Amino acid sequence: MRTIGLLGGMSWESTQLYYQLINTQIRERLGGLHSAKMVLYSVDFAEIEQLQHQGDWDATSVLLCDAAKSLELAGADIILICTNTMHLVADDVKAAVNIPLLNITEVTGSAIKNTGYNSTLLLGTKFTMEANFYTQALQQHGLSVSIPRSAEREMLHQVIYSELCNGVVNNASKEKFVRCIEEFASQGVESVILGCTEIGLLVSEKDVSIPVFDTTVLHATAAVDFALTKN
Ligand code: GLU
Repeated sequence: MRTIGLLGGMSWESTQLYYQLINTQIRERLGGLHSAKMVLYSVDFAEIEQLQHQGDWDATSVLLCDAAKSLELAGADIILICTNTMHLVADDVKAAVNIPLLNITEVTGSAIKNTGYNSTLLLGTKFTMEANFYTQALQQHGLSVSIPRSAEREMLHQVIYSELCNGVVNNASKEKFVRCIEEFASQGVESVILGCTEIGLLVSEKDVSIPVFDTTVLHATAAVDFALTKN
């Protein structure tokens, strides 16, 4: 089994989901007392979040590149940046190490395309929805990508940082997310991406009328596939 390197803590509320999902799948696939070989580098999210909101992506890149090098030194065979937003600096992180980076935008784009959908709604932080690194990656898979209107993007961003990253799951916020998704569903958008690793804490497939692509689950599953593939 190969060793998975998690670059986490962004926030730790979702990193614990990665840890649980990966171990659960390894147990299901291998049985017995099998568990995943993993190393975790967990950052102080307050430092990252402050730099994000100052627009200092170069400084976030330095922090994540150093963390990725530590994971490589600790024996990781692959690196997962356990957040969609920080894939804004994924190319830097990829270049900083000699092991592969499992890119969440690639994993998500292929999953939607392989399921046969052509259009999708991207939900996430304002950085994920508004900077074009994510939509471009999805478009390269031939997907037509919608994002919510400005006021809704603001609402999603606030809920992610003020509630979900603090472990707060609020029913009123859930209803707002569901209303947003249903509006796009009624316009014919075929699927929705939970493009923030904490949104799955709030919304799931049973809450909405279109298929849900939860990036945390997809990313963790792809890591397990890699770990169990012989090199
Ligand atoms: N975990 C979130 C994401 O997937 C938001 C936290 C962050 O800004 O990294 O985008």
